[in-house]
Amino acid sequence: MALRPIITIENPILRQKAHKVQRFGPELGRLIDDMIETMRAAPGVGLAAPQVAVLQRVIVVEVPKDEENPEAGTLLYEMVNPEIVKASQELIEGEEGCLSIPGYVGEVPRHSMIVVRGQDRFGRPVRVRAHGFLARVFQHEIDHLDGILFIDRVTGPDKIRKVEPAAKPEGEAIETTVPPQATVAMPA
Ligand code: ZN
Repeated sequence: MALRPIITIENPILRQKAHKVQRFGPELGRLIDDMIETMRAAPGVGLAAPQVAVLQRVIVVEVPKDEENPEAGTLLYEMVNPEIVKASQELIEGEEGCLSIPGYVGEVPRHSMIVVRGQDRFGRPVRVRAHGFLARVFQHEIDHLDGILFIDRVTGPDKIRKVEPAAKPEGEAIETTVPPQATVAMPA
């Protein structure tokens, strides 16, 4: 595994649409392992392949099992060709940051519940039903695959604010104790 550099907003790759993954082989496995390591080192709660300059539809997400109790560990998801197949009418505003836009956070409306379908690194179908913060992270990462950034989703310029470069948006600094094998995506 290796850390890959995370590209930032001035890089036009972030604005391109990523390609559907067709080949499920060792190269894809290496990309996913590197993305997990890079996300954890950042630290972040999600990463999309375009953020490491790879225009493939691949995301990784890792959130705490229990926000109140960091000891409970994390849930790790890796998803290839993810698609939102169901979304709640209800939108909830919440604070987001992005590893590709350091120093800024914004209030972004997101569906409170979504169902995501995709594949694992072996091409097997997976399906995840996500609520709240997990649903938010999935929507943020899937947006990256279409060249969309959270700053495009805020409802006004007053919804974006600068933060100290050292300060991470809430929920970003997360203890990661679960090994990559602990993927909990359910078979579709
Ligand atoms: Zn992002």
